[in-house]
Order: sequence, then C-alpha cells, then structure tokens
Amino acid sequence: PKTAYVRTKPHLNIGTMGHVDHGKTTLTAAITKVLSRTGSATFVPFDRIDRAPEEALRGITINIAHVEYETDTRHYAHVDMPGHADYVKNMVTGAAQLDGAILVVSALDGIMPQTAEHVLLARQVGVDHIVVALNKADAVDDGEDTVLTDLVELEVRELLSAHGYGGDAVPVVRVSGLKALEGDPRWTASIEALLDAVDTYVPMPERYVDAPFLLPVENVLTITGRGTVVTGAIERGTVRIGDRVEVLGAAASWKEGSTVVTGLETFGKPMAEAQAGDNVALLLRGLPRDAVRRGHVVATPGSTTPTRRFTAQVYVLSAREGGRTTPVSTGYRPQFYIRTGDVVGDVDLGETAVARPGDTVTMTVELGHDVPLEQGLGFAIREGGRTVGSGTVTEVLG
Ligand code: GDP
Ligand code: MG
Repeated sequence: PKTAYVRTKPHLNIGTMGHVDHGKTTLTAAITKVLSRTGSATFVPFDRIDRAPEEALRGITINIAHVEYETDTRHYAHVDMPGHADYVKNMVTGAAQLDGAILVVSALDGIMPQTAEHVLLARQVGVDHIVVALNKADAVDDGEDTVLTDLVELEVRELLSAHGYGGDAVPVVRVSGLKALEGDPRWTASIEALLDAVDTYVPMPERYVDAPFLLPVENVLTITGRGTVVTGAIERGTVRIGDRVEVLGAAASWKEGSTVVTGLETFGKPMAEAQAGDNVALLLRGLPRDAVRRGHVVATPGSTTPTRRFTAQVYVLSAREGGRTTPVSTGYRPQFYIRTGDVVGDVDLGETAVARPGDTVTMTVELGHDVPLEQGLGFAIREGGRTVGSGTVTEVLG
C-alpha cells in the first residue's frame, strides 16, 4: 500500500541549468546516487532523467524530469530538462517555481552562450539564489590545469555579478558528476559539498504560510441551503474557518466587498486550516452564486489590487512548437491566460517592434479588464485555440 507523504523537513524546489553537454543530467543522476547510499534518495539513472516524459503545461509541451531527494535538513524536488528551448519555456512561464538553481558549468569549456542565457532568465523570473557546480573537474585535475579552472571560476563569478547575483559570495564547488556516478570517493565527497552549499546558501522561501492568502478560482458550486462554494489550489498563504476574504477579478462587483469563510474541505474532508498547495473547497458566507466565477481569485482583503497594465518577458513559440509562423508586432491582440482565467490584451513591443517565433522579448500589455497581477506571475498567450507564447510578469504598471 502507498504511504502518505509526511512532511518532516522543509520542502524546496530546485533545478539544474546551464549549457548543453556541461553535465546537468549526469550531475542530477549523481546527486540521487550519492544520497541513495543513506536512503535519502532513490537512485535515478541518467537514461531515466534524459528520457523524461513530455509534460503539457498550460498547453505548452515541455520535456522536464523531476527527481526527489532529501538532505539532512531539507526535502528537495529537482528539475532537469534536456533542451535549451525547454529551459526557456519552463523558466519564462515560471512553471518550475525554482527556489534556487544549480548552474552547471563545464570546467573544460567555461561560460558558453546558454550559460549566460540561463543566468539572465533566472534573474528575470526571480530566481534569487544560484549555486555553481564547476563540473568535469576530474578532467582538468592536475597542477597546471587548475589555473584554467581558476580562470573559469573567475569568469563565472563575473557573469553572476553582472546579473546581480553577488558573484563573490556565490558558492562555486568543483565537482565531477561522472566520477561520482561511478562511485569514486573523492568526487562523491564533491557532490556532498555541493549539496551542503545548496542547503546553506539557498534560503527557505517565505511562501506558503506567511504570504497573504490567495486562491485562483477553478470552479463554483452551489450547495442548497448553505451557499456558494469555490474550489481550487491555494497559490499562497493560509486560510482558516472564520477568515475574512474578498473576491477579485473581472466584474467581481459584489457590493458587500468581502465575505467570511464558513466551511473548508479538502477532497471531502473537513479541515480547520489549509495552506499553499492544498486543493480545497471554500464555503463563502452570503456570496451570491453569480458574484464569483472561474478566473477570479479569493484573497485576503487588501492584499492584491487588480490592474490591467504590466510589462512581461515573453517567449514566442516557434512554428515547430505549434506556435505562429509569422512575427507579431505592436498592436497584436491575443488572449492572455493568467491563473485560471483568460482576458484579451493589447501588446506593445516598444523599440523591439517585432517578435519572431522563437524570440524572447520584453513587452508591455494592457488587458481588457483588471486582473490581480504580481511580479513573477506566469501566463500563456493564445490565439485561435493554440498557445503561441509564454511569459512572466516582470513589472505591474497599474
Ligand atoms: P547536459 O546536456 O548538460 O545534461 O550534459 P550530460 O549530463 O548529458 O553530459 C554531457 C557529456 O559530458 C556526457 O558525455 C557526460 O558523460 C559528460 N560528463 C558529464 N559530467 C562529467 C564529468 O563530471 N566529467 C567528465 N569527464 N565528463 C562528464
Ligand atoms: Mg541533459
């Protein structure tokens, strides 16, 4: 029988990033191998990570592998992706929700174009902590070549500083994923040192319990005699029976303004308190059935103000990925899928003027109506029933 997941350690989401062939997948496999010795992970071989099943994410297909492991102090979900395009799409939508990242740089090759691009993306989508794995250290490990590794390390620190990561303070650990995978004691210790650096350098995010409560509404039900129930997954915060909340979004104009949570359930089981990540049904006192619908959010009163203008970093899908075959330009008016809702928006590309399929661009968007927005919020852009872009809010303009 399956045993329930028991939360005994704080949970974080991390992932590998970096240039193709620098050893991201090998390192991911090596981490599980090293931790499997103490039963803190199940070893996941290279092939199982590299041939990860495709995931459909807001209509966009992304190849992404999830592995899970524990250190002494934390539980981690770790993502690894095979291709550069997968990174771009996953990071831009904020789908990975990374609390920290392991930047894998081959000590043999140094910084390459995708190394720099992933650091830029990480900055843009709000990944605040990066730990560097200077990989393939086994292959450069003799007297003279250490000088070259030192130079690569310097170069990586400069790149990180250039993107506001405080490169001098970032842990840079020389590792060999390949040798650790083979069981070599010295390089096994290097993976342990890397995990120590992640444990200590990447702080616990303050989401979950501390943030103001927010639930994107997926469904609305009426329970005769009791009132209106909304369902969905809690995006952030904690909610308790008796809490005052408000309903926000398009035409969410209930004159009473706020209401009270009078019932709380998860999968049919009553609960007194629910938190981020939980799938819940909330019974809302006195709320008319037509005052709330899918796409609205239920939130702590005053914690978020709906607005319609924002800037975003957007990846325009290529034709091969099911996107457009022609560029878009200022004046483009697609549909924006934000949380559980969708709304038309006017695109202004500013000086960029034109965005071709496959491009990553900055745009200003004016939505057709107010939506609760915040920096880092991911969304998809669709037209004619297909996804043509994915993006992240970089600034709310009001
Ligand atoms: P990814 O594209 O970043 O996921 O890179 P892979 O993990 O697929 O590795 C690319 C190549 O580099 C493979 O041939 C690996 O065997 C090799 N490789 C990975 N890690 C190391 C390492 O630590 N040392 C050496 N010498 N080779 C490595
Ligand atoms: Mg790989």
